[in-house]
Amino acid sequence: MEKNILITGGAGFIGSHVIRLFVNKYPNYHIVNFDALTYAGNLENLIDIENKENYTFIKGNINQIRSVEDVFNQFKFDGVINLAAETHVDRSISDPNCFIQTNIIGTTNLLNIARESWKDNFQEKLFYQISTDEVYGSLGEIGLFTETSPYNPQSPYSASKASADHFVKAYGNTYEIPFVISNCSNNYGPNQFPEKLIPLVINNIKENKMLPIYGDGKHCRDWLYVTDHAKAIDVVFHKGKIGESYNIGALNECQNIHLVKLICQIVDEKLNRTKGSSAELIRHVIDRPGHDRRYAIDTTKINNELGWFPSVKFEEGLNQTVDWYLNNQSWLDNVRHGIYQSYYQNVC
Ligand code: NAD
Repeated sequence: MEKNILITGGAGFIGSHVIRLFVNKYPNYHIVNFDALTYAGNLENLIDIENKENYTFIKGNINQIRSVEDVFNQFKFDGVINLAAETHVDRSISDPNCFIQTNIIGTTNLLNIARESWKDNFQEKLFYQISTDEVYGSLGEIGLFTETSPYNPQSPYSASKASADHFVKAYGNTYEIPFVISNCSNNYGPNQFPEKLIPLVINNIKENKMLPIYGDGKHCRDWLYVTDHAKAIDVVFHKGKIGESYNIGALNECQNIHLVKLICQIVDEKLNRTKGSSAELIRHVIDRPGHDRRYAIDTTKINNELGWFPSVKFEEGLNQTVDWYLNNQSWLDNVRHGIYQSYYQNVC
């Protein structure tokens, strides 16, 4: 094999799309998916590629440094793409500790073992940290985050991701570990755990349940279709300049209330609902503490330097996402049990 690549968190939402892209596009790479299979990890997301020769799944936890060391010793990785994380902002508010453990300690475990494993030769090695635009905090009504915007995280989730990014940069500066970081806006698409806004709304409409919206609903996010993010990760991994960060986004800002109404319209049409509108299910609930008002991304750097642009238009992506959730009830039933159920009952 030309390269051995460790992808952590590959059984999750974005990770599964990245694994599929790499396994199919690079038959000469051996892709190792290292995932703890938390409530958000689901091997069903990867059924179509699970028997490919260049793919191996290892159940493992980045918080356990010996497990990380073992997998490095076994496969001698050339590159790491770290997607493993606790990712739900609401959970980070009710229980920040596991965010500190996985997002900060887990990332530093990977850095420490990569450093040890690569110490004789950093040539052709790469540590790629997948981060979020949330590290930059909140924007006012105008302006965009650039790669030089100061970090100003507001939630325990974004603080843990910001901290991890700082460690990655510090290990690059101090120990010369070759790294890249990308900071992406909100993703949507198939296989997203149904606690996140878009799948939650689609499924609640289907089940005639209320559609909770934080505060006045005018919080603004940039939405990127998940396969476009996976393609951007491929481009940054192969063409990104060592030591640089790249913002990834779709220039596709949408207020939450507008987004939810749009989904109501799409689902109603697909289910041929003619009586009333699902928008009647919308309920404004008390705002999330520390809720960032607006995120928006300047993507000039990745567009101009690496030639990456998003390809899926928002309405097209939303339609595909709605179709996927309407057609994959068994996937949904399988993930909505146990821990997820008790959490869901607390918040809705
Ligand atoms: P997800 O919650 O769907 O998946 C996370 C995956 O990580 C799961 O498979 C889970 O089992 C695994 N995992 C969690 N803790 C682990 C541990 N200790 N050891 C090993 N595996 C562990 O998350 P996602 O939405 O796919 O996000 C993936 C990455 O992308 C995260 O780093 C996130 O911060 C970043 N990101 C997400 C978005 C978004 O909109 N979803 C946007 C920008 C950046």
